[in-house]
Amino acid sequence: MSVINADYLNLPGSYLFSEIARRVSAHAASNPARKLIRLGIGDVTSPLPPSVIRALHKAVDEQADAAGFRGYGPEQGYAFLREAVVADAFKGHGIEADEIFVSDGAKCDIGNLQELFSSDSRVAITDPVYPVYADSNVMAGRGGAPDADGRFAGIIYMPCTADKDFIPELPRERPDIIYLCYPNNPTGGVLRRNELKKWVDYAREQESVIFFDAAYEAFIADADVPHSIYEIEGAREVAVEFRSYSKMAGFTGLRCGYAVVPRTLLCRNARGAMQKTALHGLWMRRQTTKYNGCPYIVQRAAEAAHSPEGKGECAALVAAYMRNAGLIREGFVRKGLTVSGGVNAPYVWLRLPEDADSWDFFDRLLREAGIVGTPGAGFGPSGKGCFRLTGFGNAADTEEAMERLAAFSL
Ligand SMILES: *Cc1c(COP(=O)(O)O)cnc(C)c1O
Repeated sequence: MSVINADYLNLPGSYLFSEIARRVSAHAASNPARKLIRLGIGDVTSPLPPSVIRALHKAVDEQADAAGFRGYGPEQGYAFLREAVVADAFKGHGIEADEIFVSDGAKCDIGNLQELFSSDSRVAITDPVYPVYADSNVMAGRGGAPDADGRFAGIIYMPCTADKDFIPELPRERPDIIYLCYPNNPTGGVLRRNELKKWVDYAREQESVIFFDAAYEAFIADADVPHSIYEIEGAREVAVEFRSYSKMAGFTGLRCGYAVVPRTLLCRNARGAMQKTALHGLWMRRQTTKYNGCPYIVQRAAEAAHSPEGKGECAALVAAYMRNAGLIREGFVRKGLTVSGGVNAPYVWLRLPEDADSWDFFDRLLREAGIVGTPGAGFGPSGKGCFRLTGFGNAADTEEAMERLAAFSL
């Protein structure tokens, strides 16, 4: 009989959003007339910007004649997009076009890049957290079995709580890989320049690698919040950065993102060994073996998001989502709750009164106000007693949700 990879048996069974969907459809079935307002899942709702749509149409038409037709493309992405990315997003940060690896989104890159590290690597993640960081390491055998709280013995957890501005403390135990996501999903927290520098310096000192998830870079409003980790001196020796067109340009369905893997990022060939290898060559080898590239037409669409017109349109999308986030933030502040996020990120993170159970609050907000949010417990043990709402709904629905909230008793 064939035997499965037992590491997969250590994964939590029910994915957070399937449990939410189950409760929402049960509620909808018994209250068919009620309009539900979904401010739960981190998916965008606005259509793609006009310049992206034009670029898509043009690229599709190119495929209809022999001169414009494209077959397999370079696995790491077309030069036109890699060059547009560097010129638009990394000017002055010492990043070259051949250090950009285009993909079909940041989730795959974040989930896959850990493959380049030894299986006994220790990984540190913030808590609460985007579930992909922990789960992909559990699949790779680095987690072990979870305890009653859902914490894996092999993972170093760094609690991020409101009293510390959602900034983790440097771990006491040395990690090989550190996952940082700023602006943060789910808390909306940020790392300002001096804070991010502390992490880069720590990683250099400890010879750790930082996986920097910058999926929400476009939502940054404050001037002292770095848009890229490469704004910090020395980061090119210790950090990989992940970016995505999903939230800033509406590509959650179209699919495009990229990983920045600097040539200067080296890791030891074995513990204690002197010889080092660049991650860049290994990631190229991995991608050319297991991946065949993001579609040409999608890369043309992504390129359009870097044009002056495309940038303006994306900025308008982001501004509309941030306006919603601001309304949600104000709505809950008026209810007297401790609220964070919604300033440099489209997420609003609530501390529930008297540490109420986040699933109970989810059920009550759904039942009494018809609003769907996300229980904080779904993002990790430190998310218990917290709740996430997103600015990704449309403006009218978000306004209506806040009117309903005004009449809701906490
Ligand atoms: C949405 C999101 C991403 C982007 O994922 P894609 O695969 O590019 O759609 C990455 N990281 C975090 C934390 C996210 O919330």
